[in-house]
Amino acid sequence: MGINTAVSQLVVTILQGVGLLAIIVVIFGFLRKLQLDSLKQSLLLGAMFGLSILLLDVISYATMTGLHLNGRFMCVALAAAFGGLPALIVAAPIGALSQSWSTDLAGLANLFGPTLCGVVALIWRWKIRSLTRGPVSAMIVLGLMLTVPLVVLHVVSSDGAHPPLLLLSGGATIAAVLLTTMVGLSLERQKDSLLREQALLKASLRDSLTGLHNRRSFDAELARVLARPGSHYLLYVDIDHFKALNDRFGHVFGDVVLQKIAGAMSQSVRHDDIVARIGGEEFGIILPDISRDAAQALAERLLAVVSACNFDVAGERVAITVSIGAAHGQQVQTANALVGIADAALYEAKNLGRRCVVFSTDDPQASTCPAEPIVNLHIAEEKGI
Ligand code: GH3
Ligand code: MG
Ligand code: MG
Repeated sequence: MGINTAVSQLVVTILQGVGLLAIIVVIFGFLRKLQLDSLKQSLLLGAMFGLSILLLDVISYATMTGLHLNGRFMCVALAAAFGGLPALIVAAPIGALSQSWSTDLAGLANLFGPTLCGVVALIWRWKIRSLTRGPVSAMIVLGLMLTVPLVVLHVVSSDGAHPPLLLLSGGATIAAVLLTTMVGLSLERQKDSLLREQALLKASLRDSLTGLHNRRSFDAELARVLARPGSHYLLYVDIDHFKALNDRFGHVFGDVVLQKIAGAMSQSVRHDDIVARIGGEEFGIILPDISRDAAQALAERLLAVVSACNFDVAGERVAITVSIGAAHGQQVQTANALVGIADAALYEAKNLGRRCVVFSTDDPQASTCPAEPIVNLHIAEEKGI
């Protein structure tokens, strides 16, 4: 084979590889938005590179009669480098079986070559990558590491029909570095922007002080829960005399109280309950699929855990209490209306002396206040404690 033919075929295979892999990376970027877990993502990446092996073979056979750089080795290596072991397990058999192999050296190189390149890429992923300075140098190192097995496998599998070694090595180096850098940096960028997107979305649904769901998230969750059949309750929780607490001990201490009470309530609800901060010192707690008795027991438990939180400030031990209004999901059609009903029940709880829970139903037994009023901030103040 003449050098000109070899060079032109090398250039064509590199361009084909770049084009095809660019398409694969773009498609993978769309599929990534499905937010699959990391194992499924890895398997998917393996399958995508496996597909590219099949396509590369089709393109190569359709357009060339002579020598071309074998894309199967590279595709399997890229799958392992960026998808890890699960991706290698998917892509390597496709790489091995997509071409004829036999028991002679060339056949064995075809059979095991993709896996060998994948193992080199795994070594890079697990051991070398963290030693490199940045993403670009990491990708170049990967390309250089892959050049050696690519050249050796190409020589062995081509039964001597390869271009001069210098040309082959140069072409393989350019191809490997170009492809690893292009594919690697594109995948990295995709991953970064997806993570950033997810972090922003999460932040937009969280209250920055307490880490609870914020009002926007609460509204969406409440509408979602109410759309489902079943017995759902809403608790509207409000800290008692919070303004006096702020005035006396300062806003910063008030913030600490909000955080601690938010944490205590979150730990006291069931796994699927949704605790949100829906106003300054007001919390909405959505209790999906719960009986009246269980909702009442849970609300009373919240009264108890909040009262049990100890706050030491300016040499004093301060007791904090909350009042709770509760409403059943079937009472109304819309989430907003349900919040209004729970708020009205909360108002009643305040009027009943605070630190109690009032259920907004026609059942008068729903109101449960402690027999003994506990010492809370305003009572303590009145008594000069
Ligand atoms: P009640 O027992 O009737 O609920 O009385 P209250 O004092 O708790 O209710 P009020 O609505 O009068 O006061 C709520 C206070 O919550 C007023 C406001 O300064 C305080 N507040 C609202 N948001 C925050 C916050 O983010 N941090 C702090 N520290 N205080 C806040
Ligand atoms: Mg309030
Ligand atoms: Mg209050």
